[in-house]
Amino acid sequence: MPALSRLKEIHFTERFMQNIDGLRHRTDNTKPSGSKINHVGEVRLDSIADSVNIGEAQPYTTKVEEVIQKISKGERISAEEGLVMYNEAPLLTLANLADQRRFQLHPERIITFVVDRNINYTNVCMSGCLFCAFYKVPKAESKDRQGYTQRSVEQGYVISKDSLRQKIEETIDLGGTQILLQGGMNPELDLDYYIDLLKYIKANFEIHIHGFSPPEISWLAEKSSLPIKETISILKNAGLDSIPGGGAEILCNEVREKVSPNKCTARQWLEVMETAHELELKSSATMMFGHIESPVHIFEHLDKIRSLQDRTGGFTAFIPWTFQPDNTRLSTTKIERDFINISCDNTDNHLITGEIEVTDKNPDKNLSTKKNKIRKASAVEYLRVLALSRIFLDNFDNIQASWVTQGDKIAQTALFYGANDMGSTMIEENVVASAGVDFMLPEKEIRRLIEEAGFKPRQRNCFYNLI
Ligand code: SF4
Repeated sequence: MPALSRLKEIHFTERFMQNIDGLRHRTDNTKPSGSKINHVGEVRLDSIADSVNIGEAQPYTTKVEEVIQKISKGERISAEEGLVMYNEAPLLTLANLADQRRFQLHPERIITFVVDRNINYTNVCMSGCLFCAFYKVPKAESKDRQGYTQRSVEQGYVISKDSLRQKIEETIDLGGTQILLQGGMNPELDLDYYIDLLKYIKANFEIHIHGFSPPEISWLAEKSSLPIKETISILKNAGLDSIPGGGAEILCNEVREKVSPNKCTARQWLEVMETAHELELKSSATMMFGHIESPVHIFEHLDKIRSLQDRTGGFTAFIPWTFQPDNTRLSTTKIERDFINISCDNTDNHLITGEIEVTDKNPDKNLSTKKNKIRKASAVEYLRVLALSRIFLDNFDNIQASWVTQGDKIAQTALFYGANDMGSTMIEENVVASAGVDFMLPEKEIRRLIEEAGFKPRQRNCFYNLI
């Protein structure tokens, strides 16, 4: 019998009790009667529907039901099918599918976290990304490469050795195992600076250096007139241990050209990562969404990441987070949105509200023609994308919740939407804080959030090994 018909026959009370059973499963770690999982790789479709449709049964569309069938059989879904789920599937259906997938990969009910510190070695940057509230323009520059006048040069810095030493000592004293070393594209820093920085850290501390995202490496290679491969080799030989997935934003150039026109292209970002993986440097992958992209861009991004992971297996984790608009130029800049809906059927531009400056070549599209701000993506938007990341990225072991951008309660909720990792304790964080978001979570609080969600907290290292 088709799942949809079966769903309609289930009595409300029976479904309610099954949900209570499911909730009990979460808290006492016992397998419920009528287990939701038949065997690894197969999820019972009716159980998913049951837990979503308490009360009035909301039938799925045929397309959604077909994609659920594929997911329930453990089959890979396409970007188009991901888009169908994004646009049409109920939120709790996505949660349940992602949760089941997560438990298949991580049945041990452990949620991991890493103790580390973000160290930003310089805030001077000539990229001038419209979404960034962190950077300061180089002293010699009053305009970016596009000719736009940029902000004050007063607060630019390059970290001193004393400050660096103090920050790493504090990290180690707090049980930290790694530092996340990232900075702006500072034209006054050359390759020798980076080599010296890495060698200094390695000579003085036993700590993992997770450093230099693809835009920094791409910039450094160009500045040094070196191939990407040689640049990464030099950094690795100097002490670099792994590469963070920052600077990916949305890996579609039509979006990147609008929000970060001076940064590496999507192809260059992927090239840096593929080369690093070839050189046996692991990395993470990220996505910053909730700005001017459309849902189709999100799935193009996920598709590119998944394809690269198929080739190299070098990504340790995927970390999606949402754009934080405060203090950024993007929140107030007029964006020509004529490209937004070109390849997407969804005309409900829910990430952008109200009025926006538009030069719309598609008069059929229901876009306003005035100016407005981009607002923050909602928790629901974040959780939909998080759950679909877990479902779509079937070759990623680890999906990270972002408490830094979402806060503690949504991060805790994210543990039921496919996330199996709480990220870093972030003894120090500057970039998101510059955008007015200053959630702080000490290790003790991260442990409490994990435990109260019914999981076991465990510290891990950069490679997701438990320590
Ligand atoms: S996001 Fe990075 S590259 Fe872009 S302006 Fe900020 S520091 Fe520079």
